[in-house]
Amino acid sequence: MLIDLHMHSTASDGAMKPSELVRFCYESCGVRTMALTDHDTVSGLAQARRAAQYCGMRFINGIEISSVWGRCSVHIVGLGVDDENADFVAAAEDLCEKRDRRAVEIGRRLEALGFPGMFEAAEAMTQSMANISRLHFAQCLMNSGIVKNQQEAFDKYLGEGKPAFVAASWCSVAQAVELIHSAGGVAVLAHPGRTRLKNDWEFDSLVEGFVEAGGEAIEIISGSQSHCFTPRCLQWAQRYNLYGSVGSDFHSVAGMRPMPGTQGQLPEGVKSVLQLLA
Ligand code: AMP
Ligand code: MN
Ligand code: MN
Ligand code: MN
Repeated sequence: MLIDLHMHSTASDGAMKPSELVRFCYESCGVRTMALTDHDTVSGLAQARRAAQYCGMRFINGIEISSVWGRCSVHIVGLGVDDENADFVAAAEDLCEKRDRRAVEIGRRLEALGFPGMFEAAEAMTQSMANISRLHFAQCLMNSGIVKNQQEAFDKYLGEGKPAFVAASWCSVAQAVELIHSAGGVAVLAHPGRTRLKNDWEFDSLVEGFVEAGGEAIEIISGSQSHCFTPRCLQWAQRYNLYGSVGSDFHSVAGMRPMPGTQGQLPEGVKSVLQLLA
């Protein structure tokens, strides 16, 4: 019974439509409990939920909120959020608007670097002409032959501190947790091992801040963090009495991340976040 509580669809920067992703998880990957967690939007959930109901699989509403801790970007997953909560939906739309404004600026920077038309190309790539991600820009830079792969796009242009990086005014970790709670959801610290923090004490202080803000769970295994982090995440879960989650962070079959459900399952000795989502 594979579980995957972190994945993306075309509602943000994934390659599959929500319904297509659900069928792929069920039919090709053997996933039986899944959450769709698109960046800063719940717009794919209704379609995914219908598809999951049709397959007979357990589906959990999700979102992945972009936030900042100090100057470091941190992602907070919300599970079990109510996508019909009007205030919550409006807050998510504000986040997407920040994304769009950032995308225009990224396009300008790329143009100044000698690569015109990237904003238009990125926008055309998104299904709904909304919610443009850096991953879309990476794909466009690849399609134009400017870089060989996604990693090169981030390493040369899009990553933090690189010439086309544009800092967005994301909310704080505490605000992200509060937003998730306001929609009845459970806050999960996503892939802490992927943040750009370096020292142990910085990681400890992030987890502590997340707990102080009322966050309930942490991703113990994530397709976008090294397995070396699993023991540390387990320690944090034990120290702060956090529930555990697992997710592939799947975006597409062409990506570098594991296929849905293959990231690994929750080890013994940690309470599953699913207990909070009954
Ligand atoms: P953003 O639009 O800033 O939320 O960026 C989102 C996407 O960019 C995520 O799907 C990440 O997986 C991807 N991403 C961010 N940083 C990197 C990186 N250094 N290398 C590869 N992909 C990255
Ligand atoms: Mn993404
Ligand atoms: Mn993330
Ligand atoms: Mn993600």
